[in-house]
Amino acid sequence: MTLHLYNTAHRAKEEFVPLRPGKVGMYVCGPTVYDLAHIGNARPVVIFDVLARLLRHLGYDLTYVRNITDVEDKIIAAAEANGESIEALTTRTTKAFHDDMAALNALPPDIEPRATEHIGGMIAMIETLIRKGHAYTAEGHVLFDVNSMPDYGKLSGRNRDDMIAGARVEVAPYKKDPADFVLWKPSTGNMPGWESPFGRGRPGWHIECSVMSEAALGETFDIHGGGRDLIFPHHENEVAQSCCAHDGAPFARYWVHNGFLTVEGDKMSKSLGNFRTVRELLADAPGEALRLNMLSAQYRQPLDWTSEGVARSKKSLDRIYSTLLALNNTPSGTIEPTNEVVAALEDDLNTPLALSALYALAKKARRSIDPNEQAILKGQLIGSGHILGLLEIDPEVWFHGEIPDEEAEYVNIDVSDHLDVQINEEIDRLINERADAKKNKNFARADEIRDNLKADGIILEDGPGGTTWKRA
Ligand code: AMP
Ligand code: ZN
Repeated sequence: MTLHLYNTAHRAKEEFVPLRPGKVGMYVCGPTVYDLAHIGNARPVVIFDVLARLLRHLGYDLTYVRNITDVEDKIIAAAEANGESIEALTTRTTKAFHDDMAALNALPPDIEPRATEHIGGMIAMIETLIRKGHAYTAEGHVLFDVNSMPDYGKLSGRNRDDMIAGARVEVAPYKKDPADFVLWKPSTGNMPGWESPFGRGRPGWHIECSVMSEAALGETFDIHGGGRDLIFPHHENEVAQSCCAHDGAPFARYWVHNGFLTVEGDKMSKSLGNFRTVRELLADAPGEALRLNMLSAQYRQPLDWTSEGVARSKKSLDRIYSTLLALNNTPSGTIEPTNEVVAALEDDLNTPLALSALYALAKKARRSIDPNEQAILKGQLIGSGHILGLLEIDPEVWFHGEIPDEEAEYVNIDVSDHLDVQINEEIDRLINERADAKKNKNFARADEIRDNLKADGIILEDGPGGTTWKRA
């Protein structure tokens, strides 16, 4: 199996072949930092974290870029509503985002550009677009001229009428065409703004990602990700800007989009008010349980978020952690995911299949009484957990000394079963050693073994069929 990803650009699952052998560049649209992240916002973060872990496991030298949008009209509005400076708001919410995503075991990206650090690059790309006849100025704005690009709409597969109706594209009198979109807008009063050849203003959202992705990964790169709501207009517009600024050079080669996290069938969103922040959910469940619940559906499918789902995920983790707890004193074999888990992930990140392979592994480990097999299974269990960003906690810490009843029973009974097996094996070994000692007339050693066992409450009985033992 090789990695296959569903590419929105071609509406098909395709084999992943990077632009340059061994290297992968991946850009994922990051948060607009004006408020706490809800669990829907965390879906792309967790999904692309699994993809990043998989790519690294497959040996690719990955550069993972996820931006911070720290200039946007929602930020201006929220700062004003909170009576907070823009800087204080974006610093506070960026930190909260980092903390919340870390609690979900999402590793930080390699590069995390902030839009406000790339304003010069945005102005330069806008100037290029004007010079090449793809953009025009009007009433302090700079607009992208969609009619200058014959392929506009190709990524999202929309025709012009759909675009205007479906995306509520702002119809403004200064636009040549209602589908034209803003590259630069004027800033008045104390709105954040930068001096530019087009007047004091600020960038539109789409130009930010075109510029930050180029700065980190170049004009053409491998994977671009985000939630499916970004396909139009955000990603369509990124393609338009980047391809036109770069004389038609391809932009992202594989477009990967996650489906929605829903609540009773509706997309979780701030505007519908049906959201739960990651922070709230973390107060009731460990981050790994939220993460496992997130991975319980394949990323392109909708995932309905329920507290029952979270509780189920917590139970599944209790089970695996109690398995690991019972194996606490067993040394671990090589920590490596199984081929089954890797193959499931290589098939367009089939996390439900990878999880069922993980559960099967835990079941096998619970039943095993062979110490060598236990060690191998322990390594496979931990390794398979890690590629999914799970099982990263010490089992004792996971339970905080409070093992749920159903698991406590297993841990105690099975641990003593395991101990019994080990004791039986040791007694058998000593009986054989004693027989050999007798054969070699080493009666001192034979007696020593019998006496030591007696001291441990084990009585040996020699009979015509050989030696048996009983507890004293
Ligand atoms: P936003 O801050 O709204 O731009 O969203 C940040 C990221 O979260 C984007 O990639 C969105 O596509 C994604 N996103 C927002 N809401 C949801 C949701 N309910 N389910 C899945 N992804 C979402
Ligand atoms: Zn973006």
